[in-house]
Amino acid sequence: MDESTTQLLVIGGGPGGYVAAIRAAQLGVRVTLVEAERLGGTCLNVGCIPSKALIHAAEQFHKVVRYGQTAARGNGAAAAADIGIRVQAPLIEVAQTVRWKDGIVARLTGGVAALLKKHGVTLVHGWARIVDGKTVEVQTRQDSHPDSADLRIRCEHLLLATGSEAVALPGLPFGGAVVSATEALSPASLPRRLVVVGAGYIGLELGIVYRKLGAQVTVVEAMDRLLPTYDEELTRPVAASLRRLGIDVRLGCSVQDAKEAGGTAGSVEEKGKRQLTLRVRDAEGRESALEADRVLVAVGRRPRTQDTGIESLRLDMEGRAVKVDDQCRTSMRNVWAIGDLTGEPMLAHRAMAQGETVAEIIAGKRRHFTPAAIPAVCFTDPELVTAGLSPADAHKAGLETVSAQFPFAANGRAMTLESSEGFVRVVARQDNHLIVGWQAVGTGVSELAAAFSQSIEMGARLEDVGHTIHAHPTLGEAVQEAALRALGQALHI
Ligand code: FAD
Ligand code: NAD
Repeated sequence: MDESTTQLLVIGGGPGGYVAAIRAAQLGVRVTLVEAERLGGTCLNVGCIPSKALIHAAEQFHKVVRYGQTAARGNGAAAAADIGIRVQAPLIEVAQTVRWKDGIVARLTGGVAALLKKHGVTLVHGWARIVDGKTVEVQTRQDSHPDSADLRIRCEHLLLATGSEAVALPGLPFGGAVVSATEALSPASLPRRLVVVGAGYIGLELGIVYRKLGAQVTVVEAMDRLLPTYDEELTRPVAASLRRLGIDVRLGCSVQDAKEAGGTAGSVEEKGKRQLTLRVRDAEGRESALEADRVLVAVGRRPRTQDTGIESLRLDMEGRAVKVDDQCRTSMRNVWAIGDLTGEPMLAHRAMAQGETVAEIIAGKRRHFTPAAIPAVCFTDPELVTAGLSPADAHKAGLETVSAQFPFAANGRAMTLESSEGFVRVVARQDNHLIVGWQAVGTGVSELAAAFSQSIEMGARLEDVGHTIHAHPTLGEAVQEAALRALGQALHI
């Protein structure tokens, strides 16, 4: 077996691992990064980027379809005919859409490889298995026995960044027509009827994609509302949009199991494959059947530890996640963990920020991972964004707060974008007006995430944001107006 040594050994080349590797190398640390599959991890290959590419493609297609329909009706009720757009019945070539998405992924993952090389990071392709806190064995050759390694790497610091994997449902294991987000992001064809299990991030982002591309979509959610991690008022415009799109949402329901049904599946490419009949149980225990050509199971993700040898380190855990302190140290000296492996929130920007922090600590800098806010964005239609505390969170934390909303219905830019649904909400301490939270729902509000987290991280007060000049006409003016409204000084409402 070949042997090598390094200062920092990173297991996992996702956003957590590759950012840690680049930053540590920038600071003069000798770094080796082991990646089993593709650089960029879940985020670049089968997560953030491909899903946003398909969301964009589906939105473009949906617009053209809608314009076609309204133009054909010629009733002027919808904006398409009004603004003079006439189109013929459009077609979606899903294979080309997937190729376009794959091209973006390839550019980004190629970019990560180039950055690692430029910074002198040693990249090892293979599956890493931890021997102890300073030794990892890697199986680099595909043809070797799964349990045999051909490279041993010794390190001073070991950084675990193995990410997460989709949770399967006992009665609905992945395989065939039952898919996870990974397969749903590279469809060979579009199903006629898609059932989505889970109305969380993935279920709704991708459920909307498939609906906009023409599939009939039913979403089955165990809880009594959509997107349970967001506050209900914020999710209401999303629920209304799902209704408008014709997505059938079954709340308080869970899928028990699936049986192959009599007919064959709906798309040309799927001819010959069997349809599925799902047994669905509602909150009162009543059962019903749902027919599907494809089922997307999106009921959460869990930290990836299997076959990594992590358990041999006997680290302190929090459930399935590796427990870390505010410097991302595990319970073993010089063993660090970041990203999805360390549990919620499982977001790429959190993984990256943790990676950068660990790299700087290892290089001798004083750093802690104690962000004032980690923004979260859900790329549904309309989008949701939050940073910091909601009014209810603040109340639970015992804070006396003032909160105000500014609706996009009163924002000029939103009107020109035909998207005047939704609002921006600010939450601030009553005593000194320190901003502790922002929430927004509306078209394009993901781009407000930067302003939200900057203002919280920099300790801004309502007066700071309210008296900052915001460019006109922009959606950002709703941010300023929300702050002014909380001060009782709103100008445009
Ligand atoms: P990962 O990205 O999972 O990377 C871990 C890497 O480690 C993988 O490449 C894996 O191959 C490798 N690995 C694991 N074990 C080993 C081993 N033993 N040896 C070698 N290599 C190993 N987050 C957002 O912030 N915004 C979004 O819009 C967003 N959209 C998403 C959409 C989908 C469909 C999904 C599934 C996730 C999305 N996420 C999003 C979440 C985001 O992808 C994750 O939070 C992020 O990728 C976590 O980064 P990570 O570095 O911790 O792990
Ligand atoms: P999720 O936690 O967002 O949503 C899972 C949903 O499934 C929840 O609403 C839950 O109540 C429901 N559920 C659980 N068990 C169920 C059952 N048996 N039957 C019906 N419903 C059930 O998880 P996800 O959508 O799988 O996404 C996983 C993670 O990936 C997210 O938590 C997030 O961290 C990350 N992600 C982020 C983004 C983003 O930032 N825009 C996008 C996609 C994924």
